Amino acid sequence: MTTRTGQCMCGAVRFSTEELAEHFAICHCKTCQRWAGTSFKGVSAPTATLEIEGREHIAVFKSSGFAERAHCRSCGSTLWYRLTAGPYVGKTSLAVGLLDHTDGLTVAHEYFSDRTDSTHTLTGEHKQFTAADVLAMAAAFEDDA
Ligand SMILES: [Zn+2]
Ligand SMILES: [Zn+2]
Repeated sequence: MTTRTGQCMCGAVRFSTEELAEHFAICHCKTCQRWAGTSFKGVSAPTATLEIEGREHIAVFKSSGFAERAHCRSCGSTLWYRLTAGPYVGKTSLAVGLLDHTDGLTVAHEYFSDRTDSTHTLTGEHKQFTAADVLAMAAAFEDDA
């Protein structure tokens, strides 16, 4: 098992996990863009495997009826996204940019692929979900809640 480590910009919040996924997702929705300053790249780990230091520096914002987002109170770094309803509860999607090393990680999914801003386009083979696809999935989560 590889231990993956990361931290926020100021270092007040640090984390490690041995169960980080090898694939990440990128989301272009407007909420992610406003939160992260750009499209959000997230890589998943089971929340229970996360060792977190500096919890007192973490602020959590409930961004919808089915998700919450965390940032560092000291430096503002985007930390993670967590679903609070639906089949992915128990996973944490950590911001890829926090990782000390990203060797071997590849993009697997692109969400809101039809809402990309005009500054970049991802190339390569990966699954793309449009806004309509994602909203249909989210509606299913809310039914479960
Ligand atoms: Zn910080
Ligand atoms: Zn998003």
